[in-house]
Amino acid sequence: MRKVIVALLVLFTACQPKTSEPEQKTAPALEEKEFPAKPDIALASDIDPVCKMSVKEEFSDTAMYDGKIYGFCASACKDDFLKEPLTYLEEK
Ligand SMILES: [Zn+2]
Repeated sequence: MRKVIVALLVLFTACQPKTSEPEQKTAPALEEKEFPAKPDIALASDIDPVCKMSVKEEFSDTAMYDGKIYGFCASACKDDFLKEPLTYLEEK
């Protein structure tokens, strides 16, 4: 009896439809237009590095720098950041 159950379990797991598995593309690019308002991504900081406000509440843009994703309250902050990222990252 037990063998039957095990066999059924194997069959069940083997037949699980593979949902939400997109076709393997090379390196999923961050397409800004598809960004949700609050993306479920790990931001390098909860603080907008430019104006120092919390991006947990005000969040409208992101920028990738040095492999990390920074959140910004506005695209203006992002632009400033991308001009001189080190300036903003060094001051605390
Ligand atoms: Zn800002």
